[in-house]
Parts: sequence; C-alpha cells; structure tokens
Amino acid sequence: MLEVHVLGTSSARPAYGREVSGSVIDTPSGQILVDCGEGLQLRMKEHSARLKNCGMQQRLRHTRIRLLLLTHGHLDHCWGVLPLMQSMALDGRNKPFVVAAPISDISFDAMLHGGAYVSLDDPGIPRVDMARQWQQWWSLGATIDQLGYEVDWYVVDFSTGERWMRLNPESGESELLETPPVLFDGAEVRPHETLHSVPSCAWSVTLADKPGRFDSEKAVGLGLDDSAVNKLARGIDIEVDGKPLTAADFRGDSRKGLSVMISGDTKGGVPSFMELGEQGEGPNLLIHESTYTDIKQDKAEEWMHSTAKDAAKAAQAMGAEHLLLTHYSSSIEDTTISISEARELHASCYAADDGDIIRVSYDGISLLRWDGRGWSQIENAFL
Ligand SMILES: [Zn+2]
Repeated sequence: MLEVHVLGTSSARPAYGREVSGSVIDTPSGQILVDCGEGLQLRMKEHSARLKNCGMQQRLRHTRIRLLLLTHGHLDHCWGVLPLMQSMALDGRNKPFVVAAPISDISFDAMLHGGAYVSLDDPGIPRVDMARQWQQWWSLGATIDQLGYEVDWYVVDFSTGERWMRLNPESGESELLETPPVLFDGAEVRPHETLHSVPSCAWSVTLADKPGRFDSEKAVGLGLDDSAVNKLARGIDIEVDGKPLTAADFRGDSRKGLSVMISGDTKGGVPSFMELGEQGEGPNLLIHESTYTDIKQDKAEEWMHSTAKDAAKAAQAMGAEHLLLTHYSSSIEDTTISISEARELHASCYAADDGDIIRVSYDGISLLRWDGRGWSQIENAFL
C-alpha cells in the first residue's frame, strides 16, 4: 500500500486553514517527503500526534523520512527544508538523508564545470533556482560537519533529455552521473519535467510489480504433495513422475506496481505527462495542482499554473486512474467548483484538504478526512 499524508493545500501563502505545500508518501520501505514549505515540521508533529491520539498505527517523524523530493525552488515549496534538516540534527539523526531537485541548465553546467560552490551570478539563472538555495543552505550549516548525518544532494536538468549530477558540499565536487541515481530503496522514484516559471518537475513513486497469485488449488488438484506445492509456490520448477512442471504456469499475471505522482506547480499541456500516457505508465493517483478555476484561466496561463480542468486534462493525458486536486489560490475558499469542473473531464476526482490521508492499494483507493476529532472516510470521493 501507498499512503499519502497531505499537509499543505494552499498555494503561495496560508489561507482558510490551509498551509503551503508539503506531503509525505508512506511506502512499505520508508517515508518520502515531497516539498517542504514554511512550518512543515510543526504540521508533521501535529498530524502525527493526532494519529497517535486516534489509535492509528502510522506516525510521521522526520527521523523516518529518508528522501526529500523538491518540485521547484519557489519558497512556498522549500522554505521549511533547512529548519527541518536542523531539527533532524538536534534529534540525533544518524541515518543518511537524500535530497533531489530540478535546477536550470545554466546552473547545472556551471556546477558541472566549476564545482558545487561555483558562482551562480548569471542573470539567466532564476533567483530561486535550487542550486542557489542549496549553496546558501550549505553555508548556513547543511553539511555533514554541522548536521552530524550524511546528506546526498542530487540535481536534475531536463534541457537535453535528463541529466543528473551529484553535488558534494563537503569537498565542493560535482559529479555527472551516467544513469539516474537510485534515490530510494524499495520504490522507483522518477522526475517528470513540468512547465512553470522556474525549473520544475513532478515526482512519481512506484512500488515494484506484485507477482500474480499462486494457484494452490491447481497444484493440489494435480495430486502433488506439500513439498512439491511449496516449491512451485516459491517459483521453483519441478519434475513429477518424469513430467516437468513450470512454476510460472501456477501463477496468475503479475500486477503493475502501485504508483502515486505529485505534480508540483505547472501549467497545462505538459509533454512529459502525455508521454506517460502513450507508454501506459500513468499512476494510480495523480495529486495535481489546481491553483484556479475556469473563471481565472487567463491568470493560470499568465502565472504558469493550472486550473482544475487543466489538472483533469493532465490526468486524462497520462492515464491516471484517480485525481486529487491541491494547491489552491487564496481566491478559492470552497473547492466544490474545482471538483465539479475537473469531474467534467475526469470523473474519479476529489479536492484535498490539509490533513487528508489517501490510501492506494490493490483493493482500491480511499480518502480519510480529519474532522476535528478523528479521521473518517469520505464516501464516493473517487470512483
Ligand atoms: Zn506553489
């Protein structure tokens, strides 16, 4: 199962009880944080205390987070990172931490040739480029010396395909990677370039395919003894009375690994989303920004954001099974219109609130909403 804890659904600034971006994806192998706006660590703490008080098993602790994925450098998505990393240090973290983000091609090339601390004064580099911010964070103490735990820093650039580089703030070195790094053991984590006013990407997290169900009745029906059935169940081919039996013949089709994608900020019509659709690689759940509704389509284009319908078109294009809207402008207090506009194009769609928990499993999808005292499932949020 994949479980997403949505901790901020407002764009740009807090509004109507909504905070800025940040979500935790809980996987069977650990937790992944996607974006980390201002004050996220406090929200995690409160959310986790609620989980505990309600007798739920899950906990969100920054010590459990192994990977931080940043979608872009706008401060509502990353202003909480350095305080979070410092709290991890104060809590005595000793496990390594991995951070990945997209940067501009100019800063990528500059760091590739001049190292992690190269001067990034080219006016073509956005002011909030993650590379610039990381240099600041390092100078403010985000290094092994100061933190006491290891951090792997990876940047990706999409200007010529997908280029990855590892940055080492301790030695100042930069290393171009021949293949994309393994960011997380236990799930495939991939960036998908999006279209925003600064370098940006969506991130998908996909679990390994699930082997098909073992057909024990078929094996028992052949009169096989326990030991033979056991071997077939473990995938070992056997021979019975001179007749070969192939283990694969006793298994149903494998099931595609569960997958969740978080869009970050983007305008509509993203080519990488269409490619996913063509490859049949759309996620089970797409969590997509929907800053505006139809009435502000012009604003969406001007600021390179999406309307609820743009989000629905993205879900359609990539073949996402379910769509969850997030990242609302402060002009949206009630998300009913966002939901109804998006549902015109993608029926299985709902709008997130801060504190929502979404469970994605082979049995389906469910959305749990905090009502002030506990979480209850919203019936028919998704089809
Ligand atoms: Zn934003």
